Amino acid sequence: MSFESIIAQIKTLHADQDFTPLHAPCFSGNEQAYLADTIETTFVSSVGAYVDRFEKEIATYTHTRKAAAVANGTVALQVALRLAGVTEGTEVITQALTFVATANAIAYNHASPVFIDVDRDTMGMSPAALSDFLEANSELREDGCYNRSTGKKIAACMPMHTFGFMCRIDEIVAICDKWQVAVVEDAAEALGSTYKGQSAGSFGLMGAFSFNGNKIITSGGGGAVVSAQEGLAERAKYLTTTAKVPHRWEYVHDELGYNFRMPNLNAALACAQLERIEEIKEAKRVLLKDYQQICSDESVCLKPVPEDTDWNHWLIAVELDHLEERNRFLQETNDAGVMTRPIWKLLSGLPMYKDCQRDDLQNSTWLEERIVNIPSSVKV
Ligand SMILES: *Cc1c(COP(=O)(O)O)cnc(C)c1O
Repeated sequence: MSFESIIAQIKTLHADQDFTPLHAPCFSGNEQAYLADTIETTFVSSVGAYVDRFEKEIATYTHTRKAAAVANGTVALQVALRLAGVTEGTEVITQALTFVATANAIAYNHASPVFIDVDRDTMGMSPAALSDFLEANSELREDGCYNRSTGKKIAACMPMHTFGFMCRIDEIVAICDKWQVAVVEDAAEALGSTYKGQSAGSFGLMGAFSFNGNKIITSGGGGAVVSAQEGLAERAKYLTTTAKVPHRWEYVHDELGYNFRMPNLNAALACAQLERIEEIKEAKRVLLKDYQQICSDESVCLKPVPEDTDWNHWLIAVELDHLEERNRFLQETNDAGVMTRPIWKLLSGLPMYKDCQRDDLQNSTWLEERIVNIPSSVKV
């Protein structure tokens, strides 16, 4: 059976006859005004009122104590991991089914990822796989959890909330508490999602968000580190601001810091976008309803929202019957100008991560062969 009818309906739904992008941003609020303001005041660079405002608002929105705005989501993860105690020669447990930045942030800290499986319904880290891995491979010593097969310290665990679906984060945190492993949430895709009523990014020791152009709201490029624990987001701000000791004129830097700040220009865009996040989420909820009509009688199944997730509806996913169907769907949609993309290839297969420890990754492989994202933009 051809996907012709579905493709026609997707085009109609998005009212884009020539090309339907996967996820385009929408700037119909205060974006222009705030950007113009940064130019008028000349505060376009690394300090400014919009940076301060955005940091306050992200913390409030996610119910965390404090946020540090940074240059992108990848460096947000990198810094959060460093603050969680990830150092050279340590390991970080994460999922194989995620965007490459998750593992790269681990490698930038000179640590190694350990790849474990996801659940089929959430597409995020499986608490059962995590628990099994730790029971089989690790031991608690005085200063924390060690991997018996490699002899390395397991310094952190970094689950990811795929497409804004929440993984079973409460169970993951409980398992990690038992094994004294710090949790850093890769919440890059999950701003605005909640799990059992609690915000993505607020469960772990720290959480990281991305405001890249394709995310639910964008600052052009940008990210944030949030923490519910006192002092950590402040430390993130310090490290990402070249670890400069406050002084009216002297340049004193007392540890190895980074220039990972979010410019005020980007923060201006971010503030305007955050004002409209609930509107964007609502429009996406309506879009999902429309997709439910389109996909009802087909072999293209919408991925159901897991029970405990209040979803931000960031990127809508469908599940095809098997790999050949997935490939045919990708071919036909993209040929017709409807942009679709497969879920990521497992990171455990990439050249730089092929020697990293992993479990059987059964569900990850199953999803890798079936999941495709469909156009999820809204115009609000
Ligand atoms: C987008 C994304 C990132 C990285 O964010 P950037 O802002 O692009 O650096 C990290 N992890 C996941 C899961 C993402 O989707």
